[in-house]
Amino acid sequence: MSKYYNPQKSASYCFDPKSTQPFRLSRSKIDLFLECQRCFYIDRRMGIGRPPGYPFSLNSAVDALLKKEFDGHRAAQTAHPFMKSYGLDAIPFAHEKMDEWRDSLRRGITYVHPATNFNVTGGVDDVWVNPAGELIIVDYKATAKAGEVSLDAEWQNGYKRQMEVYQWLFRKNGFKVSPTGYFVYVNGKLDAEAFDGKLEFSVKLIPYEGDTPWVEPTLIKIKECLMSDEIPEANEECDYCRYRFAVKRVELKSANFPAATRRESVTESEKSAPKKITKPKTVGLF
Ligand code: SF4
Repeated sequence: MSKYYNPQKSASYCFDPKSTQPFRLSRSKIDLFLECQRCFYIDRRMGIGRPPGYPFSLNSAVDALLKKEFDGHRAAQTAHPFMKSYGLDAIPFAHEKMDEWRDSLRRGITYVHPATNFNVTGGVDDVWVNPAGELIIVDYKATAKAGEVSLDAEWQNGYKRQMEVYQWLFRKNGFKVSPTGYFVYVNGKLDAEAFDGKLEFSVKLIPYEGDTPWVEPTLIKIKECLMSDEIPEANEECDYCRYRFAVKRVELKSANFPAATRRESVTESEKSAPKKITKPKTVGLF
């Protein structure tokens, strides 16, 4: 097993329908639910999470450098020249909880939603404030592509939902929040004359008008999903489940199917798992 991935999470990670304690639900897990309820349920109810992606070191470096730069202006309470060049009347927001709000793994901005008892969390990249005292939610993005960056691709809808969850969380924490958030989009220049050991970037500020009314009904649906004893159906658009079940089918037929793998497949979570398992709706596999 890779030292970076243990598929079976601890019991305390899993949602317990009988518990009265608030259940921690991150912004990224809300997105996982919207992507595929089955994967979400297997993760948060049964404790088997997807393997993580590899960390993007260049993105992390860009995030750290942007943070450093905006923190300088936060301390001085001045606008970054970049904000001025876009005609944006705002400065980085100074608040004692800023580091906590940016810590997506352990803390983040949180709110216990009374109707579901979910402790909803999210780690923001930055928060700015305008002269009207409205907070502006800011997200840093880094890429390297030819041409202009935009938010027009379907796969970027997750970025928009991310912004909206943060806006909702800050409002629930009693702040006045501008409906307009900003993506600071950093693009590695692929058309530079030469590499010369350094990558050049262009920076673009993309405004986005957030729309948050979907958040609470989604939390209610997530609660219903987690309370149920049935594993939801798979997302028909996802090829991984088709692959997973096709592999299982050939493995079970194979004399070489390792006994150890058979034993491992009966994990503690599977023993305590809901009895009814819904096979994914994948045509032609079963
Ligand atoms: S369809 Fe299967 S593999 Fe794909 S996201 Fe859902 S549960 Fe996960």
